Amino acid sequence: MTPIRNIWGVGRNYLDHALELGNTPPPTPMIFLKAGSCITPESEPIKLTADCIHYETELAVQLGDDLSPKSLALALDLTHREAQTEAKKTGYPWTLAKSFRGACPLSRFVEFSQVKAFEELEFLLKINGEMKQHGFSKNMIHGLPRLIAYIRENFPIVPGDLILTGTPKGVGALKPGDVLEAEIKNLLKAQWTIAQ
Ligand code: ZN
Repeated sequence: MTPIRNIWGVGRNYLDHALELGNTPPPTPMIFLKAGSCITPESEPIKLTADCIHYETELAVQLGDDLSPKSLALALDLTHREAQTEAKKTGYPWTLAKSFRGACPLSRFVEFSQVKAFEELEFLLKINGEMKQHGFSKNMIHGLPRLIAYIRENFPIVPGDLILTGTPKGVGALKPGDVLEAEIKNLLKAQWTIAQ
């Protein structure tokens, strides 16, 4: 697999989630970075570094050699919510909130050619059997072609980079021992456990 050097996160890309955190949806894509070294494979338990680490379930698109979508996965854009709230107040960057060690658990990939229509995907997250997030890619404020065009125009993306396309509503804190089951309907299932 092509190594993942950069992870381009998209903030506030689902209206219901932007509103649940009291944010206004942005007129242009709002991009933040997570280091490529934040990635944790699905086989590894997630270690919480604080009690305010929130899950955000996202469709993750990996770019190929021609910088078009090559494969699709589910990612957890783990977020240190207190550090993020503080950064919003001070105007500091989000790095502490978004790019800590282990901040991007990732499922296996499916080839993008198996995805019939990206804009018709349905995905969900259950924690300990309870539905927490249920998203539809058609509700993205900025769709995938727009995100890729914007990121290509403004940033030095390279083949293998990952785009986290935003999270729907229902984000919340993780607890030791939680079992997370995520799914892209008819395409992919993932499971993560939170270390005790
Ligand atoms: Zn996110």
